[in-house]
Amino acid sequence: MKITRISVYQADLPLKKPYFLSGGKLRFDALDSTMVSVETDAGFTGWGEGCPWGVTYLPAFGRGIRAGLEELSPQLIGLDPRVPARINRVMDLALPGHPYIKAPVDIACWDIFGQVCGLPVCELLGGRYGGPVPIASSVSTGTPEEMVRTVEDFRADGYRLHSAKIGGADPDLDVARIRHLNAAQESGETIFLDLNRSWLPADAIAVMNQVRDLRVFFEQPCETFEENLQVRRATSHPISLDEGIKEMADLVRAQAERAAEIVNIKVSRVGGLTKAKLMRDFCLACGIKLLIMDTGGGAMSDTMTAHLAQSTPRDALIGTWDCASMLTVAASRGAAAENGHISAPDAPGLGAVPVMDVLGDPVAVYQ
Ligand code: MG
Repeated sequence: MKITRISVYQADLPLKKPYFLSGGKLRFDALDSTMVSVETDAGFTGWGEGCPWGVTYLPAFGRGIRAGLEELSPQLIGLDPRVPARINRVMDLALPGHPYIKAPVDIACWDIFGQVCGLPVCELLGGRYGGPVPIASSVSTGTPEEMVRTVEDFRADGYRLHSAKIGGADPDLDVARIRHLNAAQESGETIFLDLNRSWLPADAIAVMNQVRDLRVFFEQPCETFEENLQVRRATSHPISLDEGIKEMADLVRAQAERAAEIVNIKVSRVGGLTKAKLMRDFCLACGIKLLIMDTGGGAMSDTMTAHLAQSTPRDALIGTWDCASMLTVAASRGAAAENGHISAPDAPGLGAVPVMDVLGDPVAVYQ
């Protein structure tokens, strides 16, 4: 089987309301999604989506994906998409680094692989575990009262896991947010604190040690690996690393240094399902708990992450995330949030399809 054509589409995905991270330092209003179809000479077509969370969250942006695909796509025509690992080797040789550019192609190849096998992608990634996977709500930075109200709104929709975005210039305000959120937490519910790298070690250590009595965990407190390690060694709460885990080498180092008890794998950030699966399996082997998410996107991205989350043993998985419910435009259809949970589809492959009326014509075609 050979890849005969790669088509690239673009969709603007506005957020329902402005979203704030890092103590309000970063604001987001819309996402720029790239959807890629990979066609074959055997009649199978696979789809993948790449959608950075704006341009300031990570070193990744929508136009970057499309520019990178211009370099990569011609070298993929004629290759067998049923062997995603080999496709990844070709992409890594053709364009070192830039993992987020390669993710939609890798995902489309897994979609084809699943269709050819007649199996949903979760079965190929390790097998289906458990029922619907808990979704973490995404609670934008605000006053303690505003943040609790947001948690209550999500709770009314069935969410029991909440990622509360804190951090900022005022450590006292962060302590107030943490205590307020923790007091509002109900039995069976988890509210974790996501700093999105906004603290310096001095504030991280001071704030975390002030709430030492609370059973909470903190995600990506600081920017660099060294800063987070310094925080790890001076505090007692579990720490999750997210933005700082960009590739396998970061994960190996984190484990060698015992820098984190939890890792948040964002599939597009690390280059797609092939690399995310390797990292997921390493975490399972080392006893590291997991959040499995993507950086953004519609139902196609949510469905893709649902497959990797669904194939992760439940005792090691904290949850996943859905982005589609935060958007005003649906450029694809697939698995959707239901009562704060999501399930990988049973259909062969990814089980997500584009909405062609929204996507329109491709912005580039390689054949
Ligand atoms: Mg995070």
